[in-house]
Order: sequence, then C-alpha cells, then structure tokens
Amino acid sequence: MKRPLELYLHIPFCVRKCEYCDFLSGPASDLVRSGYVEQLRQEILCQSAYYQGYEAVTVFLGGGTPSLLKEGEIAALMDTVHRCFSVSPEAEITIEANPGTVTLEKLQTYRACGINRISIGLQSADDRELKALGRIHTYGDFLKTYQRVRQAGFANVNVDLMSALPGQTMASWKNTMKKTAMLKPEHISAYSLILEEGTPFYEKYHDHLEALPGEDEEREMYYAAKAFLKEQGYERYEISNYARRGYACRHNVGYWTGREYLGLGLGASSYIQGCRFRNEPDLQKYSRIRMDGPEADEKLHLEMHPLTEKEQMEEFMFLGLRMMEGVSGSEFLERFGQNMWNVYGDVLKKLEANHLIVVESPRVRLSEFGIDISNYVLSEFLL
Ligand code: SF4
Repeated sequence: MKRPLELYLHIPFCVRKCEYCDFLSGPASDLVRSGYVEQLRQEILCQSAYYQGYEAVTVFLGGGTPSLLKEGEIAALMDTVHRCFSVSPEAEITIEANPGTVTLEKLQTYRACGINRISIGLQSADDRELKALGRIHTYGDFLKTYQRVRQAGFANVNVDLMSALPGQTMASWKNTMKKTAMLKPEHISAYSLILEEGTPFYEKYHDHLEALPGEDEEREMYYAAKAFLKEQGYERYEISNYARRGYACRHNVGYWTGREYLGLGLGASSYIQGCRFRNEPDLQKYSRIRMDGPEADEKLHLEMHPLTEKEQMEEFMFLGLRMMEGVSGSEFLERFGQNMWNVYGDVLKKLEANHLIVVESPRVRLSEFGIDISNYVLSEFLL
C-alpha cells in the first residue's frame, strides 16, 4: 500500500504586499511568473521520482496568491502533478484565492483540473479595515468572488478572517463574522493579527500598541467568534479553525497530526521520513537550479534536519494539542513504542491539576482555560 502524502505547491506572487504580511511573497511581472511556473513544473517532474511509493491525499496550492496566475498556468501545474504523482481519487485539492484576482473562467478551469476546495482571503468585511491592512480588495469585491466561486460549482469553500486589527471594534468584528456566516461557507479560519518583525505594520505599531485592540479585547473577540460560529453550526476543530461537520481542512489536519508532506516551489517546507527540509527561498537562486542536474537536490534543499525521537514526540504533542480532540495515548504508543504517561506524566499531571488540560483516557486535550494560554501550555511539552 502506498504511503499517504500531502503535497504543497508554493506560488510566491501577489498583486502587492499587504502591510502585515511576512510570507514569502511579492509582486512580479508576467514574465517572472511564467518562468517560475515552468521551473516549478520541472521541480515537480524531477522530485516526483522519489515519491513513487506515495499517494497524494491532499494537494494545496498556497502562497502568495495562486489565483494571480493565468488559468493556463494553474492547469499546466495540475496536469504535471497528476502525471507525475499518484493522486488519490478522493484527494482534497485546495487553491488559495484573493478577491479581485479570479474570473469565472479561471474558477471553471480550476474545477476542470480537479481542484475541489477554495480558500478565499477576506480578512474583514469592513472596507476601512481592509484598507488599513493594505489589502487590494473591498468587501464588495469579495462578494463578487464568492458568488463566482459558487457559480463555478465549488462545494467546499473556506473564508479567512482576521481579528485584533487596527481600528477594529467588537461591533465591526461581529459584523464581519455575521456577513461571512450568512454566506454559509463550509469552513472559516479566524486568526488574530500578529505583528511580524520586518513588516510595515511592525514599524508602525510596535511602539504604538495602544492603536491595536488590547489583549483583553483580543480575547473577547476570540470568545465572540467561538460562540457566534457555534451558533451558526460551525464546530471549532482547531484553536483558530471552524468547519461544518465533515469539512475540516484535511491538509491542515494532516500537518497537525504529523503526516508526511512535500513542499514544492520557492522556500517550501517538507517533512519526509522524520526529516525536515526547506527549499531555496531566493527566487533568483531557485530559478537557476537545473532540476535534473546532478546537484539539484543539494542546491534545492536547505536546512536538512532529521528530527530526533525526542523532537518527534514534542511535535506530536504540541501540534496535536492544537486540535480540539487533542492527542491519543494509544497513537503515541504505536508511534514511539513508549507510554505517553511515562514520557510526559509529570507535565500532564501538573497541567491537569491546573485545569489546563482534560484527560479522557486515552485522549488528552486542552481545556478552555488551556486554549487561552496555549502558548504556555504547549511549550511545557518541550523535553
Ligand atoms: S495577499 Fe496574502 S500572501 Fe499576499 S501579501 Fe497579502 S497576506 Fe501576504
């Protein structure tokens, strides 16, 4: 039987850079974009030779803004993926799209090449907040995109939202959630804004935190999201992710539960057979690699890091505990041949005594209070 694999394709282009974004992405000309697509196809072709024993159970085209590419470029990439990899007939195949970059023709092409899930970056339904974030679109643009997405036949749609934005009030956050839930997407991601060093937002706000919602307000927004989305029929299955029954993102769940993943494209990360590595993140250097050359792997794969068993256990705990169902002691035993309570007994007992985790043998999960201070709780699992 083939081993399950998650495939990620990185498309590092955007119309322009959002003020808060530290992802590996930016604007580029048509020529640079088409050259990149060809190079990525070469990478898919050459790297797939190592993965003939695998079956892709999810494919994720992320970015950046993959929907910025021409429909023919996405079709060419997907064609290469299907020719080179064994892709499960039931695979979840997602593309990230931003309002203002998709036409109905593009969406129909996505559907025709097997893409069955789409993730739309809305972030806020308030045009002033969108402008402050440096987004290229308005709420009206999003609505048009959403209608086209449904018209093209997508039955699995995610909408990304963001709280704790400059100038955002509880009322505007609730309004954003309400307007989103009314459209009935199958999945909603709701993250809080993080000030990332090196971004214009960091420069602007790290000495003026009073211009952002405070910690308490941010928490209140999180509680409001949880309560409102529950009312609307969304189950929270991970700290910041909500879905209707059966629509949890399989790609992300795979990541949190330690499935192997292969990242292709600029700067993409991989986790294969217990080893982490990252692709070259410099576009010029990446573009110059001869993918079928003798030194391709050496030039392409940087930061090779085989995880020790201790590191694998740590990841099992702190990624798995992000999920609301938590981690299972039986799975821990199966994977590592050791009893979870022998390895983590002291930590688990302490966290349980402080009501930060809930033990329902064989599973352990974060409590509501544990979720509130999850950074602290998860860090306790570092051995
Ligand atoms: S669209 Fe997304 S990836 Fe692109 S700059 Fe904005 S936040 Fe970053």
